[in-house]
Amino acid sequence: MLARQFDEMEDEYLRERKADIEQVAERILRALAKQESLLPQVSHARDFGGEDPLVLVANDIAPADMLQFKGSVFTGFVTDVGGRTSHTAIVARSMDIPAVVGAREASRLVRQDDWLIIDGDTGVVVINPTPIVLEEYRFRQRQSELERAKLHRLRHMPSVTLDGQAIELLANIELPGDAANALKAGAVGVGLFRSEFLFMNRDGQLPDEDEQFEAYRAAVEAMRGLPVTIRTIDIGADKPLDRMAVHELRHEHALNPALGLRAIRWSLSEPAMFRQQLRAILRASAHGKVKVLIPMVAHRSEILATLEALERARQQLRDAGVAFNRVEVGAMIEVPAAALTLPLLLKHFDFVSIGTNDLIQYTLAIDRADEAVAHLYDPWHPAVLGLISAVINAANAAGKHVSVCGEMAGDIGFTELLLGMGLRSLSMHPSQISAVKQRVLRSDTTRLAKLAQAVLLHEDPAQAWLSAQERSAQRTTSA
Ligand code: PEP
Ligand code: MG
Repeated sequence: MLARQFDEMEDEYLRERKADIEQVAERILRALAKQESLLPQVSHARDFGGEDPLVLVANDIAPADMLQFKGSVFTGFVTDVGGRTSHTAIVARSMDIPAVVGAREASRLVRQDDWLIIDGDTGVVVINPTPIVLEEYRFRQRQSELERAKLHRLRHMPSVTLDGQAIELLANIELPGDAANALKAGAVGVGLFRSEFLFMNRDGQLPDEDEQFEAYRAAVEAMRGLPVTIRTIDIGADKPLDRMAVHELRHEHALNPALGLRAIRWSLSEPAMFRQQLRAILRASAHGKVKVLIPMVAHRSEILATLEALERARQQLRDAGVAFNRVEVGAMIEVPAAALTLPLLLKHFDFVSIGTNDLIQYTLAIDRADEAVAHLYDPWHPAVLGLISAVINAANAAGKHVSVCGEMAGDIGFTELLLGMGLRSLSMHPSQISAVKQRVLRSDTTRLAKLAQAVLLHEDPAQAWLSAQERSAQRTTSA
């Protein structure tokens, strides 16, 4: 009834708030039922469909709820709303399960007990496939399993190009438990630990300094001496904190959350919590190699306030006689303003990491979580490629470490182009590392640099890159 009232609202923003009400209702029901989790866990699999793999089809799934997917009975999911780089999709990718987001009508069209094919590669969902279609997809599934098994063999092979350039392949993780997977997949470190996931599903009780420290330490120890880059909390936009967890509701009523109080802006507005997190991260540095990464910086005032907060956190630990080591401090390049004033950031930070998910969103003014404009969310846009290339060049020229940690890093369609732009470090979901490594092993960076330069000047870089690759393949075949 309430949902219908929301559906009838004229204002699109208010209409979309239906999802918030639905989430609250779900949580209330869960609390009333005193269930630990919103989603059935593996041990209950038999109650939910016996041997058949289960798929969850929903209008929307919040990133916080996606976390509960880990270890649940579902082997795939489909949502009506969301974009490829929404955090819901990102968590699904990190779990390495088939998912299609932004399928618009799926929750209306799919019925309980329907059979579904989820083709996460192409974003296709087939409801009750015919035997021929089912057989075709079973064949593709077998092929892709074989391919993955082959790729898996590359996991301990050094990641070096044909012309001898070492390429660093790092992992993106959401929770400390993911570090083991990163190591198994052959990652040489964690390039992005999205620490905000520790703050979700907390029913109003955010993790204190000790709990955070234990989580960071667990990740650091699991990586056995390899570097772990911990990003300070990037809350806001499509990753709201629990309603109860923030004291001031102003955080949740932003008219345009992607442009509102998120990431470092949020941290600087909660200085005590920010320092608490920084102390926890610094304390973890006594147990391994830790780097700190600051999301969404764009202003000089933010840089100075961040570095000051870090210095205060260090001083507090010194005063208390608590051990910590030197940590490198890096900035995410996610806002065009940061890319365009890179020398300022390079002056203050030890390294930079390009967050292409947000850089694309903010360069093109496309909400990354909105499927209505998903077709315009284009990593190949010349403005996006121009900014990425300029950041890589400037960082390399200044001798500062630069990597890409957005979804482009794990997309093999971009590996060669990024190498051609001069990138030597990429951070991605562990499950993507072997496929990217295979591309690296076949690459010649000198040749790719020439191709990349030509493509960057082109008005249709995607087409130009495709043609250049085809010409290059023909030359190799005829040689
Ligand atoms: C990005 O924006 O590219 C990024 C890696 O951060 P997130 O996806 O968590 O916003
Ligand atoms: Mg981001």
